[in-house]
Amino acid sequence: MSHDHAAPDDGDLVGSAAEAAIPQDVAEAIRTLIRWAGDDPTREGLVDTPRRVAKAWREYCAGYGDDPAHHLSRVFEEVGGYDEIVLLKDIPFQSHCEHHMAPIIGKAHIAYLPKDHVVGISKLARVLHGFARRLQVQERLTAEVADCIWQNLRPQGVAVVIEASHACMTARGVRTPGVSMVTSRMMGVFRDDERSRKEVLSLMGLRS
Ligand SMILES: [Zn+2]
Repeated sequence: MSHDHAAPDDGDLVGSAAEAAIPQDVAEAIRTLIRWAGDDPTREGLVDTPRRVAKAWREYCAGYGDDPAHHLSRVFEEVGGYDEIVLLKDIPFQSHCEHHMAPIIGKAHIAYLPKDHVVGISKLARVLHGFARRLQVQERLTAEVADCIWQNLRPQGVAVVIEASHACMTARGVRTPGVSMVTSRMMGVFRDDERSRKEVLSLMGLRS
């Protein structure tokens, strides 16, 4: 098996040489899908498509090779007496629904109330992407992000709200463009204390 040492832009390899970089059964599966959709996988414009699709799916599903908890392993214990909510707002993300393998595109708001530890703020986004780059349902994605922060950071509270649109709804089926789905998971004080929950939702720009 040779490796693809070409530049990351995928325009320079064509045909069978390029496909050496991906398993033949994967390439064949994509050709089968093209044929089934009604087109000819051997025509010029489609010859290199199996390789591109396979590369793209490697990226869409890179989360399987990621351990999101690992991003929270480096914590800072010196928080300078900071005991207020830490919020990372409007984090754009992309995932794929496990029912249709169609894109889920949205944004997440992730907040926690520290107890002893804080993490670098970009780590919250890394946790999100680690779970998003898999085949998902939005409810599970929301829960997994919140649980991961809860278990690894041991904060006083975690709040995760995700707003996303699902291509399987907007581009097919009932075709309702513009519709978005909102899911949330509240833990610790954000679950038990109404004032804290209202505060975090208002910081997120959401009504409680
Ligand atoms: Zn779907």
